[in-house]
Amino acid sequence: MTEKLVIIGSGPAGWTAAIYAARANLNPLVFEGEPSAAMVPGGQLMYTTEVENYPGFPPGVQGTELMSLFRKQAERFHTRINPADITSVDFSSHPFLLKSSDDTEVKASTVIIATGATANWLNLPNEQRLAQSGGGVSACAICDGALPAYRDKVLAVVGGGDSAIEESLYLTKFASKVIIIHRRDTLRASPIMQDRAKANPKIEYKWNSIITDVLGDKSITGIQLLDKKTKEESTLNCGGLFVAIGHTPNTAFLNGQVKLDDKGFIVTPKPWRTATSVEGVFAAGDVMDPYYKQAVSAAGTGCMSALDAERWLTHNGFA
Ligand code: NAP
Repeated sequence: MTEKLVIIGSGPAGWTAAIYAARANLNPLVFEGEPSAAMVPGGQLMYTTEVENYPGFPPGVQGTELMSLFRKQAERFHTRINPADITSVDFSSHPFLLKSSDDTEVKASTVIIATGATANWLNLPNEQRLAQSGGGVSACAICDGALPAYRDKVLAVVGGGDSAIEESLYLTKFASKVIIIHRRDTLRASPIMQDRAKANPKIEYKWNSIITDVLGDKSITGIQLLDKKTKEESTLNCGGLFVAIGHTPNTAFLNGQVKLDDKGFIVTPKPWRTATSVEGVFAAGDVMDPYYKQAVSAAGTGCMSALDAERWLTHNGFA
């Protein structure tokens, strides 16, 4: 049997694509992905608390609740859901062949890739050791910040974007102080977020600073800093390090079969279209969007990808 449409990924893009495709009678099959240390089904909103900028929720909505609602809406139209990952693809002939982590092979006439992006790390000598042992290094303040180990401690956050500010503000609920470590002397974060951080007396900054290592045996005791301007080294004692330096698109499983940009995002050559370099393969959400990276824009491109797939199927006589 050949599926009309397989959707890989279960964030806002994947579920929106499923809702549109299911309502267009494409009977989509979604591979929602297995939970791992780096990502869970539902994607990055699963690591967020309050989402204030998703339209339709005037008082805001919890990220986990929003994704649960997306999933339920896709199920309402009989979307089929497989909890496995797609581990490899063969786009060299048609129908496409997809292999999953539960050892099944699926043939598909069209594919929508909506696998999102994953948090970046600094790649310091002792970073992963303390991250993987629960020793006080984390890439998700929203997931870990409320743990007892971080209460009333000085916490460091690295990064200068909206994520770093958002996570710092969140951590001030628990920490005695939050110190933002940024490699430049101006933030990348939006003005409204910068204003909120400036108004918070618990937030301080270390400008022009890079972290050269994390200190501590079983748990973090501090970080080693290098001032980029003066070249001075120093130690900052802290009880936690939260890394908020952006994300990498989840495209490794494509093994070069779809054109990617220099950062690994899927290229969609035609403006305002979700078609990729492979006929019949479409991309939606953060995996193809290095610019907007919002839940609502991911949902928007998810919708577009389902319409593009439907038109491609009709045009090529598969619908
Ligand atoms: P981002 O905007 O790409 O910012 C990444 C930050 O990390 C930058 O300040 C960057 O420094 C720094 N950085 C990158 N690599 C580094 C390294 N190796 N060492 C030290 N610092 C490093 O990523 P983001 O903050 O995750 O935001 C992503 C997107 O989501 C943005 O569009 C943002 O607006 C959006 N977002 C919005 C909200 C909100 O509105 N509530 C919340 C979170 C995210 P440089 O500045 O020097 O490049």
